[in-house]
Amino acid sequence: MSRSIWMNGTLVAPKDARISVFDHGLLYGDGCFEGIRVYGGNVFKLRAHVERMQASARSIHLDPPYSDEELTDAIIETVEANRIDDGYVRAVYTRGEGSLGLSPSSCSDPSCIIIADTISLYPDEMYVDGMAVIIAQRPRIPIQCLDPQIKTLNYLNNILAKVEAIEAGVLEAIMLNIDGDVAECTGDNIFLAKDGIIVTPDTSAGMLHGITRRFVVEEVAPACGYTVEERTVAKEELFEADEIFLTGTAAEVIGVSSVDGQPIGAGVVGPITTQLVEQFRSMVAGTVCNR
Ligand code: PMP
Repeated sequence: MSRSIWMNGTLVAPKDARISVFDHGLLYGDGCFEGIRVYGGNVFKLRAHVERMQASARSIHLDPPYSDEELTDAIIETVEANRIDDGYVRAVYTRGEGSLGLSPSSCSDPSCIIIADTISLYPDEMYVDGMAVIIAQRPRIPIQCLDPQIKTLNYLNNILAKVEAIEAGVLEAIMLNIDGDVAECTGDNIFLAKDGIIVTPDTSAGMLHGITRRFVVEEVAPACGYTVEERTVAKEELFEADEIFLTGTAAEVIGVSSVDGQPIGAGVVGPITTQLVEQFRSMVAGTVCNR
């Protein structure tokens, strides 16, 4: 089947989906994006993703080139055109073409790109056996420098922490903030369970305000009879936890078996995580596009 990419209002063939070498999205990582899931042909948490995309754009002084409604329609149009039943959508705003200088004022025309494709998650066996992770040496960028809640096109802070993980032979790294407390992972948020209580770093830790994180706090955990405490989480708590799990659009909910080679709990996916994974899956199966 031929794929099509939505670019600035038109569906085009991938070979025709091109941006300028003068686009500040390429030259400086100047832009923002969203990763969104499609379950059973329905876009999951569409409104939340559209709102976060527009908020990211405004935070970097990029006037969104499309309204919430227009962006919503474009995402659905792209999913339908590509007949994606279970898949992933990448929506991107770039600053647009400009001069070689830093100033965004030379870029008058931001670009919008929407790609709908299939997705490769972490390997299936990791959902059963749990995932080994490390703690990255590199801290997450502090809120005062570039607020990690802005989902910008510049992911090098995360990419370099991901490289640390890969060099250590694992797929994900926990990132601490500059105070040494737990912030999030390179592409996922993090939760701990201890003595039947679930905690997750509060947003003041400096992290992407994950849409899956919010779904787990507000819907999945309550449906399983848990409330989630959002508070500062010290690094030491990681090693005292009974269970750790990660959440993200691509990862969904996945258990952690070890941190820096030290087993978490019994070193397997614990009962709370297992319950949340099952609950998450049954809830997303009933997804409707919420425009
Ligand atoms: N943190 C970071 C750094 C991310 O890139 C992501 C998304 N991959 C997440 C957390 C999870 O956010 P969401 O649940 O909205 O996908």
